[in-house]
Amino acid sequence: MDFAINSFDERLKIKNCFDGNLVYGAKKFHADTNRSGEGKPSSGGLIKEHAKVVIDTENERYQRKNGLWEDVDHCPVCGSDNRAFFLHRMGLEIYRCQDCTHRYLSPRIKFDEAVKIYSDDSTASDIYKSPIQKEIDNIKYTYGLKIIEKLNPPSKNKIMDLGCGTGLFLKIAQENGWQECIGIDANSNYSDGYIADGKPGLKYINTTFESLDINKVGQDYDCISLWNVLEHLYDLAGIVNSMREILKKDGLVFIMVPNVESLITKLSREMSPTFNWKHVSHFSPASLKKLFELNGFKEVFFETVITEIDNIKSYMSGEYPYHGHGDPKGLFDFITPEYIHKNNLGSRMIGIYKKVSHV
Ligand SMILES: [Zn+2]
Repeated sequence: MDFAINSFDERLKIKNCFDGNLVYGAKKFHADTNRSGEGKPSSGGLIKEHAKVVIDTENERYQRKNGLWEDVDHCPVCGSDNRAFFLHRMGLEIYRCQDCTHRYLSPRIKFDEAVKIYSDDSTASDIYKSPIQKEIDNIKYTYGLKIIEKLNPPSKNKIMDLGCGTGLFLKIAQENGWQECIGIDANSNYSDGYIADGKPGLKYINTTFESLDINKVGQDYDCISLWNVLEHLYDLAGIVNSMREILKKDGLVFIMVPNVESLITKLSREMSPTFNWKHVSHFSPASLKKLFELNGFKEVFFETVITEIDNIKSYMSGEYPYHGHGDPKGLFDFITPEYIHKNNLGSRMIGIYKKVSHV
């Protein structure tokens, strides 16, 4: 795989290869990756872990269970308390920060309760262990690593993946010449993944990572990656500052995170499974950039990936967006991956941030 980092078209060609809706069609992709069916994220009903914190009363339907929740009064990115109600979904309330556009959950699950549920979360690991998800992730991770390398990290010595899951990204980094590849995850369902197979240079630490203890994780990192992790974290400024401390001068942070301003989420709103208790933050392109700029980094790369194009077209056809109806008559052919990514409307964002020295 090679591409010119400044060529939109060359990047688009590769991005389309790890886009589940495009490669397989939404119906097959959701079924084969354990996303659809009863109790799964695309079903439109409660998933197992969500049922631990709300009750389906079938009346006003969803009520939060007592004692598990805490209020969030300030924007987790910029600290402002100026906010407006954004939307409701299954017992959750999401607010929009009027100063930085960030969306966030309030109330949210208390941290200690969240840790308990995460340690036994099989919904996410069922998705990421499925064979076609692994195939797609392989291309996605290789693409991400290439982008990191093209942005000139200080060296290819030391890389950390926070929330490493099965460790696939680090395995790819190791095969591409990175010397020390350290993975951290709180979910023990992943411990039988690649990272545990004892390859030299790969190390797995099973722990939460709201604050990174230098004694435990070491320092002098060239790069730290967070693939679909930042939206789960409670203390955003704390984690970004911790990463800053353990990075080398000019070290890079690679972020992949859901885009609350994606076309699919703009359309499907309350139907979108992105609004679940695990996602305490919902980043916009502006709020992601703001978080890093406020904490000693500058943005050196930004784009969106993953179109969810069949889901978009299902919604526009008047059907439930996640059940794979698509656009059998071709009425919406004018919506293309190119249109989506040119306008930063993809369902995930990739942002890369460089540590600045003058803070
Ligand atoms: Zn804000």
